[in-house]
Amino acid sequence: MEKQDLIIVSAVLKKDGAKVKKEKFILQKDEPKTIIRMSQKRKKLLCLVKEKKEISLTGLKAHIPTAPALIKPLAEAGYIQIVQRQVFRDPLGDPVEPDTPPTLTVEQETVVKRVQENLTRGFKPYLLSGITGSGKTEVYMRLVQDVIEKGKSAIVLVPEISLISQTERRFRARFGEKIAVIHSSLTKGELLDQWRKIVLKKVRIVIGARSAVFAPFENIGIIVVDEEHDTSYKQETGLRYNAGDLAVVRGKMNDCPVILGSATPSVQSYQNVVMKRFEELKLKTRVNRHPLPEITLVDLKKYKDGWGHDRIITPELSKEIRSCLDNGNQALIFLNRRGFATFPVCRDCGKSLSCKYCDITMTLHKGHNEYRCHLCGYGRPVTVKCPECGSSKIKPLGFGTEKVESMLKALFPDARLVRMDQDSTSRKGATIKILKSIRNRNVDIIVGTQMLAKGHDFPSITLVGVICADLSLSLPDFRAGERTFQLLAQVSGRAGRGDTKGKVIMQTYNPDHFIIEAAKKQDFLEFFHNEAPFRKALLYPPFSRMIQLKISGSSFAKVKAYAADIAEVLKVLRGNERKQKNMIQILGPVEASIQKISSRFRWQILVKSPSSALVNRLVKSLMNHPKVTPRSGVRLIVDVDPYFLM
Ligand SMILES: [Zn+2]
Ligand SMILES: [Zn+2]
Repeated sequence: MEKQDLIIVSAVLKKDGAKVKKEKFILQKDEPKTIIRMSQKRKKLLCLVKEKKEISLTGLKAHIPTAPALIKPLAEAGYIQIVQRQVFRDPLGDPVEPDTPPTLTVEQETVVKRVQENLTRGFKPYLLSGITGSGKTEVYMRLVQDVIEKGKSAIVLVPEISLISQTERRFRARFGEKIAVIHSSLTKGELLDQWRKIVLKKVRIVIGARSAVFAPFENIGIIVVDEEHDTSYKQETGLRYNAGDLAVVRGKMNDCPVILGSATPSVQSYQNVVMKRFEELKLKTRVNRHPLPEITLVDLKKYKDGWGHDRIITPELSKEIRSCLDNGNQALIFLNRRGFATFPVCRDCGKSLSCKYCDITMTLHKGHNEYRCHLCGYGRPVTVKCPECGSSKIKPLGFGTEKVESMLKALFPDARLVRMDQDSTSRKGATIKILKSIRNRNVDIIVGTQMLAKGHDFPSITLVGVICADLSLSLPDFRAGERTFQLLAQVSGRAGRGDTKGKVIMQTYNPDHFIIEAAKKQDFLEFFHNEAPFRKALLYPPFSRMIQLKISGSSFAKVKAYAADIAEVLKVLRGNERKQKNMIQILGPVEASIQKISSRFRWQILVKSPSSALVNRLVKSLMNHPKVTPRSGVRLIVDVDPYFLM
């Protein structure tokens, strides 16, 4: 029919819920066709319109609540004109006071100058390594200012929502409405508005989480990746990408500088400095000239046979909290594990209470009266009987933030507490509310997980307590040490950012471990020089490229067989000569450390090689191999540069 010109077939973009938001605006016209009676309210309204030339109906309503009913007759008579205009939804809806740029420290000045000197030379990646509190954001803002004055645009990436609000506020205070914000918790409508602001060239700066790296700017002058070590830059589902790496790629495509900043750079980025691929820029002192907080280690082995709260909140820590409260300051207590009891065990048969669908122990959440699985969200009521033996005596062993919170409440009944973790911030706006209450000093003790470790700047926190520094140290992941170091150094950096010197009490079972020692000194280089040789010897990134093949499905046998077939094909494609085996290592197939998530069994194969080209080519030919064609009920995912190895 189409060929015979009987019908026309055309493609139309499907409407997606989000629409441009429009609002009524009132304009002055003053050409009355008919004279109508002027009430007090009508007079007031006309005055306002005359004064402002143009005002939104919402704006009018603030002065005259009945404005919507008043405008129609006035417009019909010709006194005013009503038009529809697009308005942009405000994701935070919080007015920000403008700021004035402070004088830069000598160090900041040097860094800014260095980048500016090279600005015209096009693409150049930098690693800005600045200790916590050294004023990296001010450096970013100066460079962004410079770039937009030259008529170009800037992309600023930050790791997470709770942090965006803070960086965004500082940027808004400086740049006003020239900013678009992009992150995953915007509604579709808000996201559409932000995207249109960029496309319509109404803004020159975009701040956002990882997906902001795709912002549709044409003329980019600089890309900033703040807290570049943060793992949230890696998208782990659907389209897998690392926004930090993509920022460098986009910088290359746009011929502009890329600044990766962090107090605790990733081993990968620092290796790029060592290999002279990145230039290092350093900020070694805090803006307020205060030294880094003093860190005291407390050996938890001393208290392991004790009982009561001493094992969790040691006397050393509790003494410091007391004196912090007595001085009217705030304390931050950090534990990277949420919930109340993290290891519920049956008293009768000794089995731990596991998720029905995943291979992990469930966590007791007292606030919700249930046990929860942290992988799939499955819940069981707190009254559940042991699935193994039917006993109702389940003992809540292990502890998380909820338990620490309740202990602190008992120990310091006079203190105002707030808990900040995934559970307490799940509702929209909850994070910002908690952050505000901390800033306005409506709380004395903050208990939280790694959410708190990230970049926040609370001047009245003088004490940081780390409940257990070793929690993530022994995870089966080659980056476990790196993440632990970063987390400890970052959370310690929250102390003493104001006028009082900070203190950190770090409780640990391994005070002699090189990672704990490096974290105590907050010495990134000491950590790096200890860590790098291990990675090199075992051919882990950054000394190799690694690709993870994840095989999963609901039938254990099918998954296992598919994994075995894939590994066999890989080995044939690679070849089995010693030389080939040395160039490309194939580890597995093995069951993943977490063997089952959401009823899906998981197997994995790791492929690594010092040559990216070799390993890329190998996996490409694997994917085209007839034996690897998709099978029903089994899924194969190829993750290049994987972050989640469990
Ligand atoms: Zn039992
Ligand atoms: Zn589960």
